[in-house]
Amino acid sequence: NFAERSEEQVSGAKVIAQALKTQDVEYIFGIVGIPVTEIAIAAQQLGIKYIGMRNEQAACYAASAIGYLTSRPGVCLVVSGPGLIHALGGMANANMNCWPLLVIGGSSERNQETMGAFQEFPQVEACRLYTKFSARPSSIEAIPFVIEKAVRSSIYGRPGACYVDIPADFVNLQVNVNSIKYMERCMSPPISMAETSAVCTAASVIRNAKQPLLIIGKGAAYAHAEESIKKLVEQYKLPFLPTPMGKGVVPDNHPYCVGAARSRALQFADVIVLFGARLNWILHFGLPPRYQPDVKFIQVDICAEELGNNVKPAVTLLGNIHAVTKQLLEELDKTPWQYPPESKWWKTLREKMKSNEAASKVKSDLLTLNNRSPRGGIFPSLFNCVPNWDCGTHVPQGCSQELASKKSLPMNYYTVFYHVQEQLPRDCFVVSEGANTMDIGRTVLQNYLPRHRLDAGTFGTMGVGLGFAIAAAVVAKDRSPGQWIICVEGDSAFGFSGMEVETICRYNLPIILLVVNNNGIYQGFDTDTWKEMLKFQDATAVVPPMCLLPNSHYEQVMTAFGGKGYFVQTPEELQKSLRQSLADTTKPSLINIMIEPQATRKAQDFHWLTRSNM
Ligand code: ADP
Ligand code: MG
Repeated sequence: NFAERSEEQVSGAKVIAQALKTQDVEYIFGIVGIPVTEIAIAAQQLGIKYIGMRNEQAACYAASAIGYLTSRPGVCLVVSGPGLIHALGGMANANMNCWPLLVIGGSSERNQETMGAFQEFPQVEACRLYTKFSARPSSIEAIPFVIEKAVRSSIYGRPGACYVDIPADFVNLQVNVNSIKYMERCMSPPISMAETSAVCTAASVIRNAKQPLLIIGKGAAYAHAEESIKKLVEQYKLPFLPTPMGKGVVPDNHPYCVGAARSRALQFADVIVLFGARLNWILHFGLPPRYQPDVKFIQVDICAEELGNNVKPAVTLLGNIHAVTKQLLEELDKTPWQYPPESKWWKTLREKMKSNEAASKVKSDLLTLNNRSPRGGIFPSLFNCVPNWDCGTHVPQGCSQELASKKSLPMNYYTVFYHVQEQLPRDCFVVSEGANTMDIGRTVLQNYLPRHRLDAGTFGTMGVGLGFAIAAAVVAKDRSPGQWIICVEGDSAFGFSGMEVETICRYNLPIILLVVNNNGIYQGFDTDTWKEMLKFQDATAVVPPMCLLPNSHYEQVMTAFGGKGYFVQTPEELQKSLRQSLADTTKPSLINIMIEPQATRKAQDFHWLTRSNM
């Protein structure tokens, strides 16, 4: 009856959980402790999935990948002070990538503020630099309002991270149920379209282009623009280039993908349409010498402030990429036209792709033979420290077959990736990080589906791999069961979040970890050199900063928790272990792949983007 109902009490923790549920939050990643444990329990009771991680940073990376993959924010739940501070890395990474994320942090009790309370820290202020929105509800009654606002801010406009602060005393405080009003689920972002006259101008610039190029970024992937962009590419026969995470919006093996002639395409295009890709370091800022000084950029982006960054664009199309691409298609459809497939530009690009493929074959041959630096040279040459997006997007059949037959050991990167690519299921997610591992891997490992590649991204963050893989795995389990997550890690990158292997085993996630192990960061030493080096000296005095312990058995991290581990040194062992891992759907695996410690990528034409002259 009414009298009884009005006395019914509810805890702050339950209000938070219900507010999240009402906003359609499906997944929470976090680490519990004072004061957030009750929140996690309450959320799980409402059917929100809770994934307990081993470090808040990895939890936050995982939650941010949920946003990218599902278009609604994943939640990262952390304790006060240090817990929140560990999550800042994940917030920064999400914000840089323009991915939605909601972080909920417990904080110290309000009546102990400024008194030196347990884990006290100015959390709302701290998060401001890493978020679009950072706030503490003024009361339990205000929680649903603030959570709705945070969820909405994370997905409307340019997506990004948001923070909601929950003082410890809120969590167990009881309030009358009737005093809480839950907000309605916030709608998906409204779709905005570009100005009609700008669309007309853009269409005419495209029609008049002599050497056009489309660049497909992760914004296009996030916008689910695959259908319209593929149509634009195919209907008008336009060459396209994906950015690292734009891979798969149109499949990498599409005949109009000019990834293998990346530098040439950028350098000589006269009109470039950017679909959700910023002209930052990944695209060499849009400036000469990597581009023609008078190249006409057509920028398609949801964020007005992005338009005109670093270059003066010929046309700006402000709006949702899928909607704007449809507008462009409609406009171009008005007069029959297609870019001539026999144009000089297409010929140049095709020839360049062929010659790059041949050159990459020769260079990878040389790599295997000549990649040992002289023994005794303690400090190997350091080059290309900055991730390199210059490699093409695929290694051709001819080259790959040549590499496949290579017998020299230890293996090099190309040999490893060729054998991995051979067995990769078409629908798998590829997560990748590490310096050479990510850069070379990206050129060989193909993506056929949008939003199926996750890597170090705009911020160049190392340590994201396992968190991303865990997020992709929980999403795949729910939405596309049977899909594998292949997580390709350098040995150094793996170390950042190695203990998340326990998380992977605890939830028995469909993940295969490949650790491409060269005993170091960029490069390392073999066991003999290592022993020689340490004979009479203290390790801290002589071990080069880039070296890690040679021959580390990272696969034992996986076996320690009941997964399968493999230590492989030859192509045959690699093939076999990968085949077994893919066949066994009951367990995650880790394949520790030993490669030449001094193996590096093929030489690049442009060396100016190295740290020494930045
Ligand atoms: P990449 O790293 O692939 O080059 P960036 O992260 O630099 O991609 O750029 C992605 C861009 O996409 C951002 O500028 C962002 O504002 C934009 N964006 C994100 N979502 C949408 C959307 N739905 N419609 C249009 N643009 C979007
Ligand atoms: Mg390494």
